[in-house]
Amino acid sequence: MKFLVENNLSKLGKWLRFLGYDVEVLEGPINYKDLLRARDRVFITTSRRWEKTLKNLGIDYLVVPRHDWELQLSMVVKKFGLNGELKLNLCPYCGTELTPIRKEDFKDRIPTKAYETATDFTLCPSCGHIFWKGKHYERMVETIRKILKNL
Ligand SMILES: [Zn+2]
Repeated sequence: MKFLVENNLSKLGKWLRFLGYDVEVLEGPINYKDLLRARDRVFITTSRRWEKTLKNLGIDYLVVPRHDWELQLSMVVKKFGLNGELKLNLCPYCGTELTPIRKEDFKDRIPTKAYETATDFTLCPSCGHIFWKGKHYERMVETIRKILKNL
């Protein structure tokens, strides 16, 4: 399942990418051109104004409340029966598939603490970000568990 999210839902988009889902974030306001181009994606929006148009275009969509990204994520997971497992295989910033790396090869770009204690280092070949499983990973697991528990 692939998603297109409105540009005020980038945090939701990031979390859907953590779960391994293909997400495109709208760069500007909602418009026909982007909606038609991304017809094969489910559109997640906070706006009811486009509902009729979306129905007419036959685009699958979900309206979520503004601001509360945890609620947004739980709604999307529930509505589409998503797998709530943290895959961490996609770059949260640009959605590109991450490549596993040896930390030794990128020592100058990894903070010392992370270098010594973290695991599973990956690189985004597109935007160049480096990721690893460190302390924040435990928090992410906890967050997703909390969200899924409330479904
Ligand atoms: Zn990237």
